[in-house]
Amino acid sequence: MENIAINKARELLINSGFSKFKDKGEIEKALDRIYVCSSKQELYELYLKKTGIEYDGDLKGFNNSGISYLAPISTEHEIIHETLHTLSSKYDEHGKKVKNGIEVENTRFGSQVNEGITEYLSYKLSGKDTGIYALEKSFFAQIDESFSKFFDDEDALIKMYCENNTNMFKDFLQTCLSKDKNCFEDLYANFSFMNKQKIDELTARINKGAKKVIKSREFDKKHPILSKLKSRILGKNKDKNKNKDNNLLNSTSIEAESSLEYLKEEVYKPGENENIEYNNINKDRKITKEIDDNLVK
Ligand SMILES: [Zn+2]
Repeated sequence: MENIAINKARELLINSGFSKFKDKGEIEKALDRIYVCSSKQELYELYLKKTGIEYDGDLKGFNNSGISYLAPISTEHEIIHETLHTLSSKYDEHGKKVKNGIEVENTRFGSQVNEGITEYLSYKLSGKDTGIYALEKSFFAQIDESFSKFFDDEDALIKMYCENNTNMFKDFLQTCLSKDKNCFEDLYANFSFMNKQKIDELTARINKGAKKVIKSREFDKKHPILSKLKSRILGKNKDKNKNKDNNLLNSTSIEAESSLEYLKEEVYKPGENENIEYNNINKDRKITKEIDDNLVK
């Protein structure tokens, strides 16, 4: 029974996006590190022994130091979930886990964020909706499409997860939620307090921001000249704000000079127009004087 499930899990993993970031040998090795308990009782006892915590709930399996401990009867989904923890972790020379997926240590919800992506990626492979880590999983399910488009890689979530690349996550969140500079830290610190409505609101904001960014990039791709002009203007404004004083000293004189040249060549044509202009000015002055005189009276 286990062999059938393990073989199915192996097949699903090898034929998935994981094979882009982990070679076959690594996947095989991770699948070899499975310990199938003889009873559910043994699984609970091992959990207590390894973690020091008594598990409260229906435990399907757990991963400790790169070993997947599983219940006597496990599905390919449960095998994949635990194996993904092994595949996405880094260990030191003593076998101690030093990196765990996209978990950020010493954060209140770091492990929840990591369980969310683990369960979501397992679900994508097995197609089985277990209801475990449902909220955490829903977060990644809702941002997956935007995340893939943002990095132009349909396996961008797998890449981030396998490479422990939390900078990808930070970059994505900070670009999409540009007004919210601490969104990455905030996510790990409160994960919208595990509230479905709050998580849905957050993913809606992320997707809205991502849509804007992706649309702007598509525009730049389609209209390279306009895009260059746009970035030049934006870049100029940026520089201006950065070095206001410097610009006042340097570029204002250059700009003023070239503006004068332009006026001389294109607009300033001495002749009839000059007189008309002077006449107008004089007329205006006269009127002004008259008003002033009237006021004085
Ligand atoms: Zn897990």
